[in-house]
Amino acid sequence: MIPIKILLIILSIVFNAQTAFAEKQARYLFGALSLPSKQSPNAFGSYSKGCLAGGEEMLESGPTWQVMRLSRDRNWGHPDMITLLKNLSKSVAKKTSWNGIYIGDISQPRGGPMISGHASHQLGLDADIWMLPAKNLNLTQARRESISSINIRSKNKKTTNSNWTNEHVDVLKIFAKDPSVDRIFVTAPAKIYMCKHEVGNKDWLQKIRPYWGHNFHFHVRIKCPKDSKLCKTQKPSVQYLSKGGTGCDETLNWWITKALEPVKIDPKKDKPKQKKHPTEYMMNELPPQCMSVLNNK
Ligand SMILES: [Zn+2]
Repeated sequence: MIPIKILLIILSIVFNAQTAFAEKQARYLFGALSLPSKQSPNAFGSYSKGCLAGGEEMLESGPTWQVMRLSRDRNWGHPDMITLLKNLSKSVAKKTSWNGIYIGDISQPRGGPMISGHASHQLGLDADIWMLPAKNLNLTQARRESISSINIRSKNKKTTNSNWTNEHVDVLKIFAKDPSVDRIFVTAPAKIYMCKHEVGNKDWLQKIRPYWGHNFHFHVRIKCPKDSKLCKTQKPSVQYLSKGGTGCDETLNWWITKALEPVKIDPKKDKPKQKKHPTEYMMNELPPQCMSVLNNK
């Protein structure tokens, strides 16, 4: 028999360890794992607050793609995303002069918050595609660490520059037209260009959403997989945001006017409360299923 006092001490140690774990910033726990969980594929939570079970690796090179910055170990995604990237990179090689795509960050092996950078990319359902046309698909690993993408936006941030080509439009169109794609984030001048120059059916432009940055890469987000019951669909939808149209409207202008003006801070008013950045979530703020994803051996 263990004396009751000792039992209580043991219990309190176990309890404290559990609590400490739950209160740890999730990014350090997810960022330390180099393999996916051995569970069936499942995305838990939202794009900026969740994790991924049963992640699949995007092979570092394939017939129509190369993964860049392999040292980051962010070439993991939900199998739906991996399939999409393989298929659509093939379409890019077929329909444009690019030989495929250069892929930036997808997710960590088990998704979750990252030590640095992105707010989203936590479910294995987001992927960054470089604006640099993928012409050479034989880049060495070392070269893929040092090479940079290209900026397609002018210095004053109001238009595209000479790096932007109709091939970029074709690549974006291939991604936007895929039914599993929820939305694509790109710098506003690129969307403005496409709204102005696209002829024929413009419906696909609805999924192209203007966003901060995204002038060196565009960001593809796919919908929640049907069998990921706890994956949260992003709201508002692109239909809502573009009032059922293409989003080629007055809201675009804001990005190249007001959004570029310096922010005026009124010292009389209280500082607005800073929202926690998604990379700073504690373990117990993520969906509870993420604990089992993290602990899966
Ligand atoms: Zn991204």
